[in-house]
Amino acid sequence: MDMSSHGISRRTCMGMMMSALLGCRSTAVLAAGSQPEIAITIDDFALNASTPLLDADTRNAQILEALQAMRVQAAGFVCGKQVDNRDGRRRLALWSEAGHMLANHTYSHWRYPEIDFQKFSSDVLQADALLTAYPTFRKWFRFPYLKEGTTAEQRDRMRAFLKAHGYRMGYVTVDASDWAIDARLRKRLSEDPHASLDGYREFYLEHLWDRTQFYDRLAREVLQRPVKHTLLIHHNLAAALFLPHLLQMYVERGWRIINAETAFQDPLFAAEPDILPAGESILWALAKESGRFGDKLRYPAEDETYERRRMDELKL
Ligand SMILES: [Zn+2]
Repeated sequence: MDMSSHGISRRTCMGMMMSALLGCRSTAVLAAGSQPEIAITIDDFALNASTPLLDADTRNAQILEALQAMRVQAAGFVCGKQVDNRDGRRRLALWSEAGHMLANHTYSHWRYPEIDFQKFSSDVLQADALLTAYPTFRKWFRFPYLKEGTTAEQRDRMRAFLKAHGYRMGYVTVDASDWAIDARLRKRLSEDPHASLDGYREFYLEHLWDRTQFYDRLAREVLQRPVKHTLLIHHNLAAALFLPHLLQMYVERGWRIINAETAFQDPLFAAEPDILPAGESILWALAKESGRFGDKLRYPAEDETYERRRMDELKL
């Protein structure tokens, strides 16, 4: 074998290794020149909560550092009551100073279907009044629990209200149960502060990758095109510990991590699916609306119950 053919065979070998790592479909996407894209969106900002291992300032700093290391700007969907004190405002200011977009996730984090419209809409405005002080606040709104109403009247009334106040919908494309992993992790650490984090980190990555693949397939099936994804994770201990690994995972698997404001430019975010109950991932909702998937779309789309068996198996 001469040097040039040796060179070719090495490249072929590299190509095969890449295919094995990425899976055939991802490789095909890369070959077509459209790298899958995902933005990080972070909900709740539960900074009043105390957790084992890391205090609120450290959790906040570690999440910010992970984003900074990737030079990526996220969107924070802030629950007002979680940050409505001196420490909360100081911690939130760090997000704005670092250029991350802040957006409205209501003040009280009520479940809209269970709350009177007047009360819920006032609560949205209470969060708006708090967030408007931050230079990177943008009028994007996300319903707590992604629950947007159980009747057409309830759903459409809030859609009209949000539009009248200049809001657009900060939909999630990739929904998941990171919060359920976080709950198990905190429980374990409260029982044993020296417990290994490895299994939790591995499942966090496995689960979020699994959900990303699911919703990306759904996008391509329903819309016949790739979309700019918005991943939903929460501001919690798991994110503080594992976000660097998560971002690294996407990059290693051929995904591009994009700024949240860029992702929200995708026309997908102007959709208003006609389904009831309204809500869930926007991709789930559009799939449901299409009527093409029948019982294959579980409800709720994501929940702790779906992950319980796997977490039990892994002794998490
Ligand atoms: Zn929330």
